[in-house]
Amino acid sequence: MISYTEASELIKRKFDELNLETETVKLENALHRTLAQDIISDIDLPPFDNSAVDGYGIIFSHDATEWEITGEISAGNYKEFNITGSGAVKIMTGAKIPAGVTAVIPIEDVVVEGNRIKLLPNVKYHSGMNIRKKGSDIKQNETAINKGTFLKPRHLASAASCGKSELLVYKKLKFAVLATGDELIPVNEKPKDDKIRISNTYSLIGEVLENHQAVVNYGFVKDDKNEIKNKVKQMLNSDADIIITTGGVSVGEYDYLKIIFSELGVEQIFWRAYIKPGKPAFFGSYKQKDKLKLVFGLPGNPVSSQVNFKVYIKENIKRLYGMNPMGTVKAELLNDLRKKDKKRHFMKGLLSKENDKYYVTSTISQSSGNLVEMSKANCLIIVEEERLHPGKGEIVECIPM
Ligand code: AMP
Ligand code: MG
Repeated sequence: MISYTEASELIKRKFDELNLETETVKLENALHRTLAQDIISDIDLPPFDNSAVDGYGIIFSHDATEWEITGEISAGNYKEFNITGSGAVKIMTGAKIPAGVTAVIPIEDVVVEGNRIKLLPNVKYHSGMNIRKKGSDIKQNETAINKGTFLKPRHLASAASCGKSELLVYKKLKFAVLATGDELIPVNEKPKDDKIRISNTYSLIGEVLENHQAVVNYGFVKDDKNEIKNKVKQMLNSDADIIITTGGVSVGEYDYLKIIFSELGVEQIFWRAYIKPGKPAFFGSYKQKDKLKLVFGLPGNPVSSQVNFKVYIKENIKRLYGMNPMGTVKAELLNDLRKKDKKRHFMKGLLSKENDKYYVTSTISQSSGNLVEMSKANCLIIVEEERLHPGKGEIVECIPM
């Protein structure tokens, strides 16, 4: 059985082989997409010298303290002025600076007496003050936003100023999710006897959407080889990039997924990695003509499938799409941890912060079936292979969630 590090490396390599396609979207729909082109400004920004404040435009001189108001310019309403050394133009924020004006004195720094202004005592001003120069933000033909940038609101504003009403972005990865198990019933039914409501589908859809990708729900099927095979075949023939099944991938009597994958031409890259929870996960790839698809057969245990997504898939989406990496924080343990094996464990934890320091406790159930406990947790505590008994007060790495 391979280690966590080996499993991650194999998955990373396959993600890198995915050929991300591009599409054009309107600027207003480009939030949280990833740029597939450099954004180059078609003009200087700002396009003209303009005032940074509401104030008075004057010709700078070392000793002048009084001027006569000779006119007014507001933003978007430029007029030519013949300004002299004793004259001042009332000028608003964003208004174009008239020829000759070399400083703008803020309105707050003068008193107005009729059509004259006087500098308040102790106010200093200097040449160039409060003038935003043409091209000071970016020059024409320079790159404003780099290809590969994950677009936040601030990037949309920059793209708009550069004249881009549409952007070339990478298409979202399309996930297809299928749950398997004889015990599963829909959420709106009340379980009788040995049935349980299907829950994995929803955490996985949530994970995909939280990472700004697309998902198609293939629902659930019974542990029936033909039924599962038909569904998996549909998924492999669809336009999905990443196929996820849950359940039926362990060593039980009715765990058909591995055989089905193999029969349908999915190439196994690994089955089972030495981690907890989520050990039984299968990972493979499939070629649909030239298109590469990644195939994850995740275990049915609700916590296992969530942890598998986080530690195997999420980081790769973030990397490929230029998002901030998932990241970990170092925290001091508030209780002793115990593990009986040398798997890499991802334990549910409660992370808190006090005076810039992180603390974490694992004093909630660690069962991989306990879903509600999982929803109370806010991090996964990483307990490395060789570390069997991290004690209270020791530092551990945690994945916030
Ligand atoms: P399996 O991986 O099929 O052996 O399932 C392991 C455990 O996860 C069993 O207790 C299943 O009942 C449970 N399980 C499987 N699929 C789901 C699902 N979609 N939602 C919630 N629990 C599930
Ligand atoms: Mg099962």
